[in-house]
Amino acid sequence: MNLVKKITICEVGPRDGIQNEKNILAFEQKVELINDLTDAGFKVIEVGSFMHPKAVPQLADTDAVFKKINRREGVEYRALIANVKGVERAINCGCSKVKLNVSASRAHNLSNLNRMPEDTIVGFKDSVHLALANGIDVSGSISMPFGSPWEYKIPLEDIKSITEAYVKAGVNEISLSDTSGMGVPNQVYSICKEMKRAFPDVKWILHFHNTRGTGIANIVAGMAAGFTWFDTSFAGAGGCPFVPGAAGNVSTEDLVHMCDEMGIETGIDIDKVIAIGKKVTELIGHDGDSYVLRAGKSTDLLRSKPTGQEKK
Ligand code: ZN
Repeated sequence: MNLVKKITICEVGPRDGIQNEKNILAFEQKVELINDLTDAGFKVIEVGSFMHPKAVPQLADTDAVFKKINRREGVEYRALIANVKGVERAINCGCSKVKLNVSASRAHNLSNLNRMPEDTIVGFKDSVHLALANGIDVSGSISMPFGSPWEYKIPLEDIKSITEAYVKAGVNEISLSDTSGMGVPNQVYSICKEMKRAFPDVKWILHFHNTRGTGIANIVAGMAAGFTWFDTSFAGAGGCPFVPGAAGNVSTEDLVHMCDEMGIETGIDIDKVIAIGKKVTELIGHDGDSYVLRAGKSTDLLRSKPTGQEKK
């Protein structure tokens, strides 16, 4: 199997994982979790978002969290934004990377914003300029490129034209974000291969929600296509209020554990990640969607010494 040897896992739990939770985490709990993540070896952590506090009350204190966390040199701490106001907040709290998002679904964009995805990106121009002028990196995300509840499959030409709009706006890091959890491995592989061929200078990130159990298989398909950056969430926490039955991202524990077993380097300490996952499930008050949190590591089985008489 021809896969990459090393990947970078971007922990999005502090944003994507907890943004829909009923139990709003306390400020100190968020700071502690992010410090734990830094300590576990993550090189990219999505700390929160700068949305309107009424829209996402769970993350209303992202500015204060940015000011309080212990930042480690070489670690990227990013936040999701929607507009110029978000960039201003990023500047004021020392956030050095912001992420914009647009939906790949034309029908979704038209019904929500009354414009096409490419026009939405043109509208990001001021945000991108203000960010770059202040030394803040900008990342762009395209949600639902692997399928949307509106039109089912998204034409590849649409994904390309949205990518082009981002590149034209000065954004060269783009994540393909399966918010709807509709992607399947052979489709992910062929889309990723083609996007990499068509846009060799873009830094690609993949972001899968495990809504239909295909998340980790889709990550492997992405690796086979040469992608090396993947978003995951601690404890597999998360969901989406707009997508019926949406699950969280692929759990960080599952991906780190799988990579360890496959000899793919992540630079992340699995035991620390498992401890973080357990802490998260306690804080949110319920289990997330993590196989490794439930079953433990494969190597734990050796320590529990099977007798050979287990029932099949
Ligand atoms: Zn997401």
